[in-house]
Amino acid sequence: ASYLDSVPLGPPDAILGLAQNFRECAAAEKVNLVVGAYRDGEGNPFVLPSVREAESRLLARGETKEYAPITGSPSFVQRALAFAYGEECEALTSGRIVGVQTLSGTGACRIAGEFFARFLPKGTTIYVSDPTWGNHIPIMELSGLTVKRYRYLDRSTNSLDFDGYMSDIEQAPAGSIFLIHACAHNPTGVDPTTDQWDSISKAILAKGHHVLMDCAYQGFASGDAEFDAGAIRRFVADGHSMILAQSFAKNFGLYGERVGTLSVLTASKEEAARVLSQLKLIIRPMYSSPPIHGALIVNEVLGDEKLRSQYYDECAGMAERILQMRALLKSELIKAGSTHQWDHITDQIGMFAFTGMSADMCDALTKDYKIFLTRDGRVSMAGINHANVAYIAKAIHAVTD
Ligand code: PMP
Repeated sequence: ASYLDSVPLGPPDAILGLAQNFRECAAAEKVNLVVGAYRDGEGNPFVLPSVREAESRLLARGETKEYAPITGSPSFVQRALAFAYGEECEALTSGRIVGVQTLSGTGACRIAGEFFARFLPKGTTIYVSDPTWGNHIPIMELSGLTVKRYRYLDRSTNSLDFDGYMSDIEQAPAGSIFLIHACAHNPTGVDPTTDQWDSISKAILAKGHHVLMDCAYQGFASGDAEFDAGAIRRFVADGHSMILAQSFAKNFGLYGERVGTLSVLTASKEEAARVLSQLKLIIRPMYSSPPIHGALIVNEVLGDEKLRSQYYDECAGMAERILQMRALLKSELIKAGSTHQWDHITDQIGMFAFTGMSADMCDALTKDYKIFLTRDGRVSMAGINHANVAYIAKAIHAVTD
């Protein structure tokens, strides 16, 4: 007998398992509203032309396949951080923000969890929003942190439970960690207003909590990367103890290239050097060094003025299409005869609409209409286009009526 005989069969991933079911479905009318990956107006994957141009330049230049340093490409990291924090950010220009290249946002979160677990007191709790991106919870648990939730979504209105959020910040033991989505909250699409961000920032500071800011949609949310970085920049200006996890999966459409950064806001260059030395000690035995191709692409795009401005337009184009589909889905629901309140579809932002549909309603959509979505009622707006929106709206009306 082999030890493998006793290896139990694990459950499928909640999201990727559904994506598999979609692929296996033979129905012609099937619709994929599961995975958070952008699709163009015809429902196809989209590679940004600026990304293609960068790739052909890399090829023409004969870029080698040498290893990156443990912390990744220095010039990529520098440009990526300037993209998030702003070129003028004092903490960045004075060397107080220290960053490393990571395996996209997931890898950044994992390194952040490991860093917190090593250097914060044993038993420190990380608070994640209720709900949050599902992977946050096992990432942080496997890093050795205790995970608890803070109130976020008011399920009766599909909007922010601001009072609940504030009171949970207040009630958490001083020095806890708060995991915050920088923009385009996943899965709810509900972000705080500017005034609410102010209060949240003040309350977190007052309790001496640490912040893990997860930024997976900068530029993809509003179409304006500067605007979407608002919360990050405010928190830096307010002087938080903060780590930032940055992903280029959505905004650059580089999903499978696994390109991101992790950065730590420190008090001095000397502190930054100590932190960096520890990040290297975490990374080296995990995967030695990050992949280079995606980082070279982002570096090329952000480092070239013309390509960079082309990129901004293309990213804004993706955001614009999503915003149009929100408006269209809402109007098609009304056209189909639905009398429910659907304003949250257009109030929410980013890749997803959190519809408020129950698990039973979602099951009926999948069973009767071959529309695949997660059972929390989250709809990937990128999967909607002119050809399928009326079908989707009629089906949603049928199951919610
Ligand atoms: N954080 C959030 C909130 C996300 O939505 C995602 C993508 N689903 C990620 C992190 C990580 O994605 P990736 O590892 O592909 O960058």
